[in-house]
Amino acid sequence: MGCELIDGKELAKSVYRDLRQKTAELREKGIIPGLTVIIVGEDPASLTYVASKEKRAAKLGYNSKVIRMPERTTQSELCAVIDELNRDDSVDGILVQLPLPRHLNKYDVIKHIAPEKDVDGFHVVNSGALVAGLPGFIPCTPKGIIRLIDHAGVRIEGKHAVVIGRSLIVGKPAAMLLLERNATVTVCHSKTVDLKSYTRTADILVAAVGIPGFVTGDMIKPGATVIDVGIKRLGDELRGDVVFDEAVNVAGHLTPVPGGVGPMTIAMLMENTYIAALERRGKA
Ligand code: NAP
Repeated sequence: MGCELIDGKELAKSVYRDLRQKTAELREKGIIPGLTVIIVGEDPASLTYVASKEKRAAKLGYNSKVIRMPERTTQSELCAVIDELNRDDSVDGILVQLPLPRHLNKYDVIKHIAPEKDVDGFHVVNSGALVAGLPGFIPCTPKGIIRLIDHAGVRIEGKHAVVIGRSLIVGKPAAMLLLERNATVTVCHSKTVDLKSYTRTADILVAAVGIPGFVTGDMIKPGATVIDVGIKRLGDELRGDVVFDEAVNVAGHLTPVPGGVGPMTIAMLMENTYIAALERRGKA
């Protein structure tokens, strides 16, 4: 049984083609989607992610801005900037790059973003909407995961999906989206006993742990769809949570790192920003 790689780069390109077209139509109505990213401090990985988001938004014809704040920024200084962006009608999407420096409380900061501009989908209003099955912004990485599975032609309904990781950013929303699509979902975490007994029964396995090489071939059910969310830079290399060389001999579908989930996360951010612009200003 051969393993098919799910190409996130190609899929992201097709999302961008569609968005470029739709953005041009919005611009004809005088509406330019606006995305502002705030970065606090100098975390090198965050600086790279922010630069990619800024570049991509500009390429799509969005009004793309980055606000760089020093490491010593206080909670009230950061919230004051967010307040200003909440009031600015030309800004459709506000994203605060995580992780924040330790002295800042990410939950309080995210709560400050107007829910209709929360294109990351982390505000409690949006995460609550996801749990309730109501419309709202869906976090970009989990949204991308579902797109990748659909793109591979893998049916989600009725499948056993196992998500390793329960973060607000990936694990929990990914589990909710899979449940919404009628999978039977198991969520595993650091306190799970006998993890392998769960992963080996997974038709769909989502690994969002952040430990390179955590998922070995013997943890995967033959023919399963394996989504590797993990990214860790080791020297010059980006490594996922899954041992690629082993997984490729067992899985039916597999996302590579790099070139799998990563490109789709940015594509979904751009899509959410377009939706925010359309919902706020494009319907008249
Ligand atoms: P996180 O907040 O650190 O969460 C990691 C999760 O893994 C936690 O729920 C933790 O369980 C669980 N875990 C840790 N050790 C475990 C173990 N031994 N067995 C089972 N579960 C274990 O990380 P995150 O933000 O969700 O991100 C996860 C990974 O995805 C990271 O590598 C991150 O860089 C990557 N990521 C990639 C993208 C992308 O665009 N490709 C986007 C976001 C994140 P507990 O809850 O019990 O601690």
